[in-house]
Amino acid sequence: MKIILFSFLLLSCSAVFGQVPCELSPEMEASFTEEIPIPLDLCFDISDLIDNCTPVYIRVNIHFFLDNDCDGNLATHPDITENLSPYNAFALAEDLVDNANEFFDKVNANTNPILDHQWNSEHHNTPVTSHQCIPVRYVLGGAYIHCSSVNQDVELTEEFDYFDNYAINPLTEVNVYVSNFITGDGNGFADNGSNQVCVENFTSGLFNHELGHVFNLAHTFIYDRCDDTWIDSWRWDRDCNGTFETTGKACWWEHPDYPPLSGIDACDINNFCQPHPCCDWKNISNNLMTYSSYGYNGDYSALTPCQLNLMITDISDQMCDYVAAIDPDCPPVNSNIGVIPTTTGDMQCPACFYLNASDNENKYSVTIMNSSGSRIIESGVINSEAGKYCITPRTNKDGQLEWPNGLVAGQTYTIKLKVFNSCEESDESQLNFTLPYPCALYEQDPNDVPDIEMVTINPNPATGNITVKFNLNKNEDVIMYGLHPSNNTVYGIVYQNYHMSGDNQTVQLSLSQWASGYNSLVVRAGNDILIENFIKL
Ligand SMILES: [Zn+2]
Repeated sequence: MKIILFSFLLLSCSAVFGQVPCELSPEMEASFTEEIPIPLDLCFDISDLIDNCTPVYIRVNIHFFLDNDCDGNLATHPDITENLSPYNAFALAEDLVDNANEFFDKVNANTNPILDHQWNSEHHNTPVTSHQCIPVRYVLGGAYIHCSSVNQDVELTEEFDYFDNYAINPLTEVNVYVSNFITGDGNGFADNGSNQVCVENFTSGLFNHELGHVFNLAHTFIYDRCDDTWIDSWRWDRDCNGTFETTGKACWWEHPDYPPLSGIDACDINNFCQPHPCCDWKNISNNLMTYSSYGYNGDYSALTPCQLNLMITDISDQMCDYVAAIDPDCPPVNSNIGVIPTTTGDMQCPACFYLNASDNENKYSVTIMNSSGSRIIESGVINSEAGKYCITPRTNKDGQLEWPNGLVAGQTYTIKLKVFNSCEESDESQLNFTLPYPCALYEQDPNDVPDIEMVTINPNPATGNITVKFNLNKNEDVIMYGLHPSNNTVYGIVYQNYHMSGDNQTVQLSLSQWASGYNSLVVRAGNDILIENFIKL
């Protein structure tokens, strides 16, 4: 029996862009119901997992928002410096998950005997705790872009009903929304009941803090059910008149400005009769579950044994269906095909598939089928991390724009992606898509010129040799693979060259070893591929 012990909405209002006071309404802070002693329904042994720091992988989806016309950039806090072009969304999503995992790697690798555990416990009459190894890791389930202006801005008082239409597999995957918080000073919030998170930046400290709430952790500056954390809220009598004029939840760092008068050094007793409490190092916490620049930094962050136990208990008791793997030989592989949405529901032109939305793959294959299920384009297995695959229109000999490989505008096709990790485990996903009317290449968004564009394969049909002409928009290593899809013959690597760049590259290939009929040439430039069919007579 699964009963939700706690259901609360928790916020993080940390200051990633400088010190910002955290003022939230009391009802926004944790509102706990009393814990009911119910037998736990565990799917793994908690103490065994903690003692061995056995990695447990949780599936997360990352969601982004464009405006209603599917235009503009991905919504975030306005000060974000990352490339927010929608074309970069899938790389951002994977980086977010990878960096959050690296954050815990850093926490676990901390061997400084003074800094590797929760700081200043003794000063606050709290048990001094030891270094804790954090076993939680994430795997990217999927990355999604939605066209919804209203979701580009979020208020901290909103709940997750706001995003409910967008949750993907909410009973098995944690859904994380990236949006811009327009009110309050918060940067994120999370819900332990529905396992959803909203953040407005890409810092791994914020991500792991919010996921901490998903795993049932509360803030240390309130009652958090742990006797080994200390309450780091403070109050300050800056005039020494017996009244605490200023109170706060936590110390972001040890150099506070006096918030109403930004720029005034609150540690300088020439400015105030006594220094701000945060000027005292003893009041600085490195706990992940407070608002602290040290807690949000993997080099310093820590959890206590009680917090780790609460977190892993929540995963084993409430979130078994979210666990992708426990102690795998290889990080779990996940197939995901990212696309940029359009108002019509058709693909953009050129039609690009962001296979890099997959996670932990080192090999992959792509197949495109028509509506009757016939395979019409096939890549064979490609030995690299999956990148981008674009279908780019070209001008035929009559001067007309057309899609390559016999693909037709208005038709619906299915693309299938199979990915493998280094343990040869695989995962598959597929997506139906409709091609729009072919666009001229000059209409392309300059943000997303493909790394490689096919110009021609000549002659086609061919007998002895073919000449492959292509444009490279970046300096890339180029590898070509050949295969004969209908009789499952793979020719392996048929051409390889390093550091190529520029337009109208030409490569001659001998077809003497190729079988007759339809053949596929796969050209890989960096991690991007294109696939071209031709006939050998
Ligand atoms: Zn929080």
